Amino acid sequence: MNFKNVTVAGSGVLGYQIAFQTAFHGFKVSVYDINDDVLAKVKAKFFELSECYKHDLNATQEQLDNTFNNLSYCSNLAEAVKDADLVIEAVPEDVGIKTEFYKQLSQVAPEKTIFATNTSTMLPSQFKDLTGRPEKFVALHFANKIWVNNMAEIMGHAETDKKVFDNLVEFAKAIGMLALPIYKEQPGHLLNSMLVPFLISATELWVKEVSDPEMIDKAWMKSFGSPLGPFAILDIIGINTVYNVAKLNVDTNPNMAPLLEKLDAEFIRPGYLGMFSGKGFYNYPNPAYETANFLK
Ligand code: NAD
Repeated sequence: MNFKNVTVAGSGVLGYQIAFQTAFHGFKVSVYDINDDVLAKVKAKFFELSECYKHDLNATQEQLDNTFNNLSYCSNLAEAVKDADLVIEAVPEDVGIKTEFYKQLSQVAPEKTIFATNTSTMLPSQFKDLTGRPEKFVALHFANKIWVNNMAEIMGHAETDKKVFDNLVEFAKAIGMLALPIYKEQPGHLLNSMLVPFLISATELWVKEVSDPEMIDKAWMKSFGSPLGPFAILDIIGINTVYNVAKLNVDTNPNMAPLLEKLDAEFIRPGYLGMFSGKGFYNYPNPAYETANFLK
């Protein structure tokens, strides 16, 4: 793997974290987004993020200065990718936006450039023919709070070159990730393939009034020594996102309709949107599941 220059396309929730983490580990990173206003805001967000690196990783001022020196900003796609060994795409989870993005990217990126998508719910094979280089196209999926939840799932499609895949595994390690290679294309990668059915099962117990969220969480936490139960995880993901995912599945899963109704009435309308809003299934910043007596 001899990548030097990486372009991160899309500087939202995940993109700006991927850009900073990659620059922190010594790569030159060009941050690309739709206009200069968005890019001006991301610069400010990087300063906030650097405080987390100090606090959570004991990052030194010298490391952070080097990180900022490795970052550049560009709202012209051709310019942003002109030297790129790798483009990591983190544009919104919307088929239309991603389709348009790959059409444009394939026109302007150098032949050598590898493309990686951070999509959570789509597959690389959906976009491979738009890239103009299916053999150099891979999914590279990160988790939110990348600097502490530092894992990356690497998943090719049937035509991905093995060498490209291996290079991405090496790259993931080089930016401080636990690299998790996936050998077959799988919707939801590893984590979400397990997590989504688990969370759906938990919400079904709640919707059917079999028990309440605290008891359901306690059953899981006590049995496996887990610090979080499913409803604490839903709070971390955010109730809005949970609502949107349930909405996407309403045609295929009959249990989604009562869940949507309950979430809307009890959480969305009153504004209890999970951890970031101060209230979801639990109250924050000191949720009950973190107290010493919770499992007594
Ligand atoms: P987001 O909406 O927070 O950010 C998207 C960014 O892309 C915004 O800055 C937006 O201005 C920019 N953008 C829009 N159109 C663009 C275009 N044509 N070209 C370049 N930039 C464009 O989204 P997000 O939550 O960061 O998600 C991005 C990707 O990461 C999605 O594919 C999502 O599935 C994946 N992901 C998200 C999370 C998460 O927890 N949010 C976790 C893992 C993976």
